[in-house]
Amino acid sequence: MTAKRRRVLAIVATDSTFERSRHGTQAVWVGACIHCRSPLTIAADGRPVSQATIEHIWPQRHGGDNTLTNLALACGVCNRGKSRHDTRPKNDPRLAEIVAELRRRRSERWRDPPDELATHVTWAIRAVEGEGDNDPEV
Ligand SMILES: [Zn+2]
Repeated sequence: MTAKRRRVLAIVATDSTFERSRHGTQAVWVGACIHCRSPLTIAADGRPVSQATIEHIWPQRHGGDNTLTNLALACGVCNRGKSRHDTRPKNDPRLAEIVAELRRRRSERWRDPPDELATHVTWAIRAVEGEGDNDPEV
């Protein structure tokens, strides 16, 4: 399993909108985009079934890292929409507003990981400690 898929599963694990479901014969997790709440489907192995992307709430370009509280899952359209704001200066009030709202939503959704996903959360926490601020894989 790639680092990216483990990270996706660690986000699923800590986001209470994600519930176990089935996609045909496949076991999946279905949750909501952090922005528009449209459904996102993630396979049990972390592969996105519907278009799902990792959203860095505080932008990577301004030093946002892979700490789980800074990550959420978003549909591709919303992620690209947010990226346009990420190019604003670090101290831009509109960027601060967007980030504050996303942090609020993320903490509202926060949950303790289900047992089957707990190892991915442990991995994601260790990965951040080991890699510093940047992860070229995401
Ligand atoms: Zn969306």
